[in-house]
Amino acid sequence: MTTVQHAIDTLEDLRRDWLSALHAELPDAIALRHRLHAQPRLSGDEEDTAATIEHALGISMERLADTGRIGRVGPSEGPSVLLRAELDALPVTEATGAPYAATNGAMHACGHDVHQAALVAVVRACRTLSLPVGLVVLLQPREETYPSGARDAVQSGALTRYGVAAAAGAHVHPTVPAGTVATGAGVVNAAADEVEILVTGRGGHGAYPHRAADPIAAAAHIVLALPELVRRTVSPMRPATVSVGHVQSGQPSANVLPDQARILATMRTTDAQDRSDVQDQVRLLASSQAEAFGLTSTVTITAGEPVLYNHPALVERMDDWLVRSGIDVTEPMRSLGADDFSFFGEVVPAVMSFVGVTVAGHDEAPELHHPRFLPDDDAILDVATTLVAAYLAGAEIIHLGLT
Ligand SMILES: [Zn+2]
Repeated sequence: MTTVQHAIDTLEDLRRDWLSALHAELPDAIALRHRLHAQPRLSGDEEDTAATIEHALGISMERLADTGRIGRVGPSEGPSVLLRAELDALPVTEATGAPYAATNGAMHACGHDVHQAALVAVVRACRTLSLPVGLVVLLQPREETYPSGARDAVQSGALTRYGVAAAAGAHVHPTVPAGTVATGAGVVNAAADEVEILVTGRGGHGAYPHRAADPIAAAAHIVLALPELVRRTVSPMRPATVSVGHVQSGQPSANVLPDQARILATMRTTDAQDRSDVQDQVRLLASSQAEAFGLTSTVTITAGEPVLYNHPALVERMDDWLVRSGIDVTEPMRSLGADDFSFFGEVVPAVMSFVGVTVAGHDEAPELHHPRFLPDDDAILDVATTLVAAYLAGAEIIHLGLT
């Protein structure tokens, strides 16, 4: 028997023991989930949530990224696999009618309460097991806002100090069939950048437009040119889009031409070169259109999340562990959405997976961030099993020297 085969056999024993210990943790995990759900905290204000989870984990943790926490179980030296749970809730008024519904105007409408309870169950269930590599627990703040908590966690240098050699996250998703998980090698989510274009001209009377420099006309041309710009910059074989979410200019007056127009857009790309090319072309478009109309422009691009890339070897191993654990692996969930988990994938092999859920009382589950999005408690076990599969896959690629 080869050493690698031996290592995999050992991991299979670990998987079985871990999953049976997980079942014993479930009642506590469900109670914890309800408690966390009832007391949601917004991005940047997650101190209570972090403290509650740290207490439930019963391990010593270090603070990072303001309200976040990081800790390690298993071997204290050598490489480790990081498992992440997000801490923050959303400014949504809950309408689920659940007995443990939040009443403070915030809501865990993105399922982070499920991720938190699942991660606690995973860590508690391995207390008496012998792990082959370290398991790093990351409670990450500010997933829903900028500045990104994942970016801050990476920039803190903690991943290096904790020996992180692979990272995994799992997210509940209403469009993935319940009982299945979507992983998918390669690009899963887009890079997301925010674009602000200011077009500045010279106001005047609407009856004498030839004596003004009309920023609204220039802004309208820019808005309509943006999709064409993407089409001429990025190969149609690689997804990319620019969507304008806000245009503002002047006062509500029919006959006053204003001085300035403001455009806000989100830019989504799936390739680093495309990302910088589209940024360059947006700047060129704004300045040349403004110039053609006798105006000036300024473009401010705020970089958001990078492309979310699932490491192919990690995905291949993880799919295998999921199937062994009785979970079907379904079609990858690729979209131009963004998740700041992608910052981890920039520094170590990483995998983000999407876990199917049901929502009681709905044939078709409400969308993420919807005031009625409340995954059933079954989701805790599915997310926990997915995180165990991700840890085993991480341990395996560390053994195989693929990190
Ligand atoms: Zn989320």
